[in-house]
Amino acid sequence: MTLKVFNTLTRKKEVFEPLKGKNVNMFVCGPTVYDYSHIGHAKTYVQFDVIAKYLRYRGYDVFYLQNITDIDDKIIKRANEQSQKAERVAKRFEEEYYKDVEALGIDSVDKYARATDHIKQIVKQIKTLFEKGYAYETSDGVYFEIDKFKEYGKLSHQPLDKIKEGARVAVNEDKKNPSDFSLWKKQKPKEPYWSSPWEKGRPGWHIEDTAITETFFGSQYDLHGGAVDLIFPHHESEIAQMEASSGKKPLVKYWLHTAFLNIEKEKMAKSLGNFLTIREALSKWNTKVLRFFYASTHYRTPIEYSEKNVNQAKNALERINEFIRKVSRADGKDNKKVRELIKKTSDKFEKHMDDDFDIPQAIAALYDFIRDVNKLEISKKNGEEIIEFLKKINSVLGFMTFEKEKVPPSIMKLVEEREQYRKEKNFAEADKVRAELKKKGYYVDDTAQGPVVKKL
Ligand SMILES: [Zn+2]
Repeated sequence: MTLKVFNTLTRKKEVFEPLKGKNVNMFVCGPTVYDYSHIGHAKTYVQFDVIAKYLRYRGYDVFYLQNITDIDDKIIKRANEQSQKAERVAKRFEEEYYKDVEALGIDSVDKYARATDHIKQIVKQIKTLFEKGYAYETSDGVYFEIDKFKEYGKLSHQPLDKIKEGARVAVNEDKKNPSDFSLWKKQKPKEPYWSSPWEKGRPGWHIEDTAITETFFGSQYDLHGGAVDLIFPHHESEIAQMEASSGKKPLVKYWLHTAFLNIEKEKMAKSLGNFLTIREALSKWNTKVLRFFYASTHYRTPIEYSEKNVNQAKNALERINEFIRKVSRADGKDNKKVRELIKKTSDKFEKHMDDDFDIPQAIAALYDFIRDVNKLEISKKNGEEIIEFLKKINSVLGFMTFEKEKVPPSIMKLVEEREQYRKEKNFAEADKVRAELKKKGYYVDDTAQGPVVKKL
């Protein structure tokens, strides 16, 4: 079986073949740390978490790198509003970002790299662009001259002329073309700065990423991800910078982009004020519900956020968890068919994931599996095989809930007995059984989804 991915650069599904054997160098644009991230950002981060995990599941040796934009106009603006140093604002929200990432169950990233830790590399890249004739200096900074890079527009599939026509009139009249983008911004009063050959100042946004990826991966690598709104000008400009300075093409073999999360048909965005932060969302729903909600739509399809839609996801996920609890307690006759069904479902899972990470279809195969197994009488061993299989899939998807402790059948029997008493409203007997369970070292938590047994 071959893995295929949809490449924004060619607008085609292509067979995934990394530059070097099984090694995959993967980069995804991280946050600009001036505020809390919202659930639109989380969609991108969770979906690339699943993608990285699936690549590992398929045997690729993935190095997953993410940048932290810790110097930017928005950070400076926020810092000035709060009479704080930009550095402090950035540090604070970088920490908050890591908390969000952890709370979302994202643990696939190997390295987070700060822009401000790579100023030397940034300056070096700009110097090279000067030497090769792509950069020029004005009164307020250094710019990349897009006219010199004839392929500018190849990622966003726009002819260079169209880009130039569409550009707004430049604020800075010194610019050769309004679409020329910033490589270095000379310091304005009250702004943080670093020294450079072009007066003290700070880097432009796009150059941060290529400086960081060149440091870790060199001038070419396998996979670059981000949300669709980053295609132009951000990713387009990354290509121009790195391909112009290294002379090697392509900068990135596969460009993958996630569609937006919409709220009432509009993109969720800080600027529109219609956003819900990750932590607000996680105070309403747990991590797994949110991960399942993101998984329910293909990463290239916009997802519509509403309480109703997340609740629907919650209920759908509960069917899977209910199945897990059920098979964990199986003690019927052994059924050979279970092994066949596992094999069939595992193949289907891989087939759909290999098709540009089609998680919704992979989940549909899982529901077929649940439906088929539910018709059978299965043994304890069958149950264990099913759990093992689901755990393997879940190492990629990360939304299922498994019982942490193996509960002996004798204890489960008592739990069921107690449940029966409760149904009959015989609470005195139910309490007696609870006391007996406690003596044996178990505690029963009565949840909306039924009793959950925990070891004391
Ligand atoms: Zn970026």
